Amino acid sequence: MFNVEHIRQDFPILNRQVNSKPLVYLDNAATSQTPQQVIDVIVDYYSTYNANIHRGVHSLSQEATDAYEQARLKIQNHFNAKFAHEIIFTSGTTHGINLVANGFSNFLKQGDEIIVSALEHHSNIVPWQMLCERSGATLKVIPMNTEGELIMSEYDKLLSANTKLVFVNHISNALGTINPIEYIIEKAHEVGSAVLIDGAQSCPHIKPDVQALDVDFYVTSAHKMCGPTGQGMLYGKEEWLKKLPPYQGGGEMIAEVTFQKTTYADLPHKFEAGTPNICGGIAFGAAIDYMNAIGFDAISNYEHELLDYATEALSNIEGLKIYGTAKHKTSVISFNLEGIHPYDVGTILDKLGIAVRTGHHCAQPVMDFYKIPGTVRASFAFYNTKEEVDTLVNGVKKAKMMLS
Ligand SMILES: *Cc1c(COP(=O)(O)O)cnc(C)c1O
Repeated sequence: MFNVEHIRQDFPILNRQVNSKPLVYLDNAATSQTPQQVIDVIVDYYSTYNANIHRGVHSLSQEATDAYEQARLKIQNHFNAKFAHEIIFTSGTTHGINLVANGFSNFLKQGDEIIVSALEHHSNIVPWQMLCERSGATLKVIPMNTEGELIMSEYDKLLSANTKLVFVNHISNALGTINPIEYIIEKAHEVGSAVLIDGAQSCPHIKPDVQALDVDFYVTSAHKMCGPTGQGMLYGKEEWLKKLPPYQGGGEMIAEVTFQKTTYADLPHKFEAGTPNICGGIAFGAAIDYMNAIGFDAISNYEHELLDYATEALSNIEGLKIYGTAKHKTSVISFNLEGIHPYDVGTILDKLGIAVRTGHHCAQPVMDFYKIPGTVRASFAFYNTKEEVDTLVNGVKKAKMMLS
């Protein structure tokens, strides 16, 4: 049974104070907190079997290699990839997107089109702009409505035989909208386009099945799902990963090197040049184990309760406007107080021990759409409580009183 008080005991950081107030951590969409079970795995790695992987005959190296490859299997299993070598370890979502964008420059020509969505994170816009500059391809954007939903009838119109790639986030980090990626993938495939889904915001809340989705590429970061920073994964269908050229050259990614010619290693090593974040990969596996032990159904049910509770309480504050009211959304609330800059609200909340994000959330086009400089964003995780929501609501009321 889901017991939030019990779960909170796994997170040592939740016991600390900030500005002499108990920490209320509501910035989970930026990074999640780390449970003791994952911290222990990190400490154990550096205390007992830290070694470089894949090349040593000695015992420590083999132990580290086994643990690292075990983590890859956990990730394969979690995302239901067909093969373990379809899981590429990366430093995070940004790295995964750049790896794919870089590889696609080989396949694109003048007149080809790439479709992204109006809800994208900067890390999902800039690499495509760079790719378009290099290849002569054109960028098209799926527009959004005022609820913060992508307009699928407009998407249908953008698709054509020129479409080579579609890139959409599974869940928007700025507004929490859950995008209809099943539809997006199916329609893209009808015109022969590949699809990359940015799962940085979805993986903390749901368990994607890459084979059921029939997605070509899926990327995510460990640090938004109870794992460490600087670690992530790229899932790619085997046929695509075989076609894509390597992203970086170096150790680990080669089969044979002479000064005349180098042949590349098999998947997944072709994309894993240099010494990776070994401990990060192992800890990512541990984070997935931790979340699965709680269960993604339990997590998303509970988070929806928190979302509904917080949405109602915040809506009752006069002059407070919530941005992003999609029918399908996750536990993110972006809002502003009328006539008050979000940064000022965030500063007062911090004095009260409440951590929220303020600003454009790396999604400036979304802010431009609403003609605002930014929002205050509270994002909830399964270890947050209704009492913490109450603290937030009281804090916002206090900020409103002090600033208006
Ligand atoms: C956080 C985030 C990213 C970037 O993740 P990094 O770990 O910084 O690489 C990309 N897309 C979305 C939707 C995000 O929320």
